Amino acid sequence: KQQAFESEINQPTVTIDGQRIELLMNAGLISGVENVSTHGADGIGLYRSEIPFMLQQRFPSELEQISVYRTILQAAQGKTVVMRTLDVGGDKPLPYFPINEDNPFLGWRGIRLSLDHPELFLVQLRAMLQAADECQQLHILLPMVSNLAEVDAALGYLEQAYQELTQELNIEICKPKIGVMLEVPALLFQLQDVAQRVDFVSVGSNDLTQYLLAVDRNNPSVSTLFDSFHPGVLRALKRAVEDCRLYDLDISICGELAGEPLGALLLVAMGYHKLSMNQASLARVNYLLRRVNQHELQGVLKQVMMLANGHQVRETMMAFVRKHE
Ligand code: PEP
Ligand code: MG
Repeated sequence: KQQAFESEINQPTVTIDGQRIELLMNAGLISGVENVSTHGADGIGLYRSEIPFMLQQRFPSELEQISVYRTILQAAQGKTVVMRTLDVGGDKPLPYFPINEDNPFLGWRGIRLSLDHPELFLVQLRAMLQAADECQQLHILLPMVSNLAEVDAALGYLEQAYQELTQELNIEICKPKIGVMLEVPALLFQLQDVAQRVDFVSVGSNDLTQYLLAVDRNNPSVSTLFDSFHPGVLRALKRAVEDCRLYDLDISICGELAGEPLGALLLVAMGYHKLSMNQASLARVNYLLRRVNQHELQGVLKQVMMLANGHQVRETMMAFVRKHE
């Protein structure tokens, strides 16, 4: 079937009843973004900036970072690029910045580390701002945010970087859209406050699932418990998109669930219109979404939301797909 999927790769993702869905690509390696358009992506929905940091022997300099980010922005050929600031810690160690903790996933990771090291954070923000030529293209995303003070502090550093560059360079610097990852459960209940501070949120369903279910996302002993189709997780995802609509906050999703065909169907049914996924999933999800009716999917979602476990959810969604093949 892959050939059939690929044959429609340049067709826009629109459901039978006319709902346009943006399919975006997750990236980290420069090699993965050589040609965003040829993969049929509407942009880069998540650029994991920690990947180039992990491949080096030391923190990359401001100039080195500018060069990497510029390559990514150019590869996206004018399409949106959501650049996430450094998300190390947890399962992503830097060889030259050892962190020893009993509970790394509950520890010093993502924005926490950046805010404790403003000298690193400012260099990264300055590099991102300088790499962007087209003002609309760059979006900046903050990982692992768990409270509003972190958002405010990060916005303060972004403003500082902007002011510094404006004075130093005497050219017009872009003010990018700014967003936070929705991956710490508590933030789900503060979306009204989040909406007053930032332009968008992006759901990190990998970490959100891990933290909602208290299941280490990488531990094989509990891998069967790690389930983004768990009704509790689905209710959280549904509530997130509903609250964002209520508070006029743009929302997308960039965890693995968005690239799983059954997951993508559920997300579209809930009202997610921007799905970011690995390049390998794009063609298939596009093919599938072009063959479903959003209205009909909403009916299935109603049934799904009453089911008792993830297994039943998958069965129900599989039956729906078979009916449409
Ligand atoms: C996530 O947590 O779902 C996510 C997209 O980020 P990462 O997998 O890089 O933690
Ligand atoms: Mg994450």
